[in-house]
Amino acid sequence: MRRRVAYVLPVYDEGRTLQAFHAALLAATAQRPDLDFEFLYVDDGSRDDSLEQLLALRAADDRVAVLALSRNFGHQVALTAGLDAAGDADAVVVMDTDLQDPPRVSLELIALWETGVDVAYAQRRTRQDTWFKRTTASLFYRLLARLADVEIPREVGDFRLMDARVVAEVGRYREHGRFLRGIVAHVGFRQEAVLFDRDERHAGASGYDLRTMLSFASHGLLGFSTAPLRMISKLGFAISAISVLLAVYVFSVRVFTPEQAVPGWAFLGVGMFLLSGLQLIMMGVIGSYLGRVYVETQDRPLYSLALAARGRRSAPGTRD
Ligand code: UDP
Ligand code: MG
Repeated sequence: MRRRVAYVLPVYDEGRTLQAFHAALLAATAQRPDLDFEFLYVDDGSRDDSLEQLLALRAADDRVAVLALSRNFGHQVALTAGLDAAGDADAVVVMDTDLQDPPRVSLELIALWETGVDVAYAQRRTRQDTWFKRTTASLFYRLLARLADVEIPREVGDFRLMDARVVAEVGRYREHGRFLRGIVAHVGFRQEAVLFDRDERHAGASGYDLRTMLSFASHGLLGFSTAPLRMISKLGFAISAISVLLAVYVFSVRVFTPEQAVPGWAFLGVGMFLLSGLQLIMMGVIGSYLGRVYVETQDRPLYSLALAARGRRSAPGTRD
């Protein structure tokens, strides 16, 4: 049976790039006539003529599908809408439509998938972004690697191929502050990288300004780590420890050089450190409950099964 590969392609004000992108995509996928393709464009409330162009592409080629969100919901939500709609494809490729992710690399992702890998992600060997974007991104990925509970690969964006069973699992994660590359890492299965050189943006400007980049980074950190909450009580313990040291110091001054002791100072100094330390410890206690409430409200699946090979009679109530 012919295998079906769907491309999920988010579009936000890419009118100046779309034709070039679609041509490159067609040229790449033409090299695999043995596969059935679907090109699922998700228009994320574009303000330019992107949607009209997409509908024209759709009229010319029925492998093109178009979804239009009712307003700009952001890249991550647009991807999610596309994954939800990708339905019965055997694999889904997710990539940007500004030609920063070269369509020919998706062929390598497909080839890796055909060797039995469930998630083939495209890892940037080099990238052509501005100095500022490269440094902030690299700092962010370093911090994330230290703090996150799952291992999220570095220098990897959303450009990846996912097997149908991974797409199904990712679809069970419905949190609002979305960090899709973290969710895919959380899901598990066999994940491997293909290295590529990331191109420059073909035309137009990045849809991520500093504000959306910061909020995206905080979704990544807060969504996959409760370490910031745990830092509160660590700080509290450190400050309480200072109050103990201070008390020792005050005591020795009183015993060994009583003529230098200033009345009242000990009580204020030690008390200040002790109380603020205790307060932070208690806030940390509240924080750890809050962290649990937070994780519970994310309501993620407890686990994902890669295989269930069971005995013939192990499922009660089923007959074969
Ligand atoms: N995009 C989107 N919604 C947005 C911003 C961007 O669907 O609100 C799309 C955009 O069209 C592109 C991809 O997401 O295909 C990546 O966006 P962008 O190039 O702006 O991000 P960058 O490459 O700068 O990280
Ligand atoms: Mg881009």
